[in-house]
Amino acid sequence: MSGGEAELIRTYFRGMTASQEGVVLGVGDDAALLRPRPQRWLAASCDTLIGGVHFPEDAPPEAVGHRGLAVNLSDMSAMGAAPAWALLSLTLPEEDPAWLDGFSRGFAALADGHGVALVGGDTTRGSLSITVTVLGHVAEHGALCRGGARPGDGIWVTGTLGDAARGLECWRTGPHPLTGDAAWLAGRLLRPEPRVAAGRALAGTATAAIDLSDGLALDLSRLLGESGAGATLDLDALPASDAFRAADGEVRHMLHGGDDYELCFTLPPAAEGGIGEIQRSAGVAMTRIGTVDAEPGLRGRAGGAVRTVEPRGYDHFGGTR
Ligand SMILES: [Mg+2]
Repeated sequence: MSGGEAELIRTYFRGMTASQEGVVLGVGDDAALLRPRPQRWLAASCDTLIGGVHFPEDAPPEAVGHRGLAVNLSDMSAMGAAPAWALLSLTLPEEDPAWLDGFSRGFAALADGHGVALVGGDTTRGSLSITVTVLGHVAEHGALCRGGARPGDGIWVTGTLGDAARGLECWRTGPHPLTGDAAWLAGRLLRPEPRVAAGRALAGTATAAIDLSDGLALDLSRLLGESGAGATLDLDALPASDAFRAADGEVRHMLHGGDDYELCFTLPPAAEGGIGEIQRSAGVAMTRIGTVDAEPGLRGRAGGAVRTVEPRGYDHFGGTR
């Protein structure tokens, strides 16, 4: 890190670099020095967001800052890990103080809420791109992985599905400023709430988990692939928000729309009795949406008929993925 970069981080991200548990040395030297907790594994995850690909380029800078960290905290939650430290690499077309101020406020508010310290960073000139690395703690042998789902396990999701995909359509069609249901749905796209408490509450109980970044059908298929299993979804049980229903959201948004950043996890039948307590400690509703099968592939049941569900995600910014 050069002197100028450390200065920029101190200027815009002060308060986030304050001494925090496990930070021996934070921003300003050639590397941070961190003290991991004893008897814990370190979970590490990295994500890049590119303007115009992963978020609308006209998104408010505060939302971009929030989202840059949120997608990484979501990965921590999918592992059942407690996030502790973050590193930020920022590529900007120009040093725009107003944009940086908004960006850092969005980033800092979410970091503070989860007790995450920013311990390093880098800035370069170029097209808008944000790369965040998050490090967190998880109990030894206690992480939630994708490969543990077994036939007979229930498939569950946190929160509601499809809001962000419908919200992006609202954002694109306007008129701006959005109001009412359209504004709420766009907020689910721009300011996703990572389910960190849910992931931690599920660790040790859920057999597998993944966070929903590319859409339920594609992400669940990844989990099932790692587990060597298939599944049948109850399409009538997919949880929808009131705003999503009011804005004519469709099943395709819920199955193939990305950016929900909810958790999808599997629970053995014997653990279902404890779901009420898990929901209370996580502070989010959880809905059973299907069952893991031995037969590979993904199927959906609606009104008594069963059809194949393609493991396809929807890319808001051109083509499928
Ligand atoms: Mg993920």
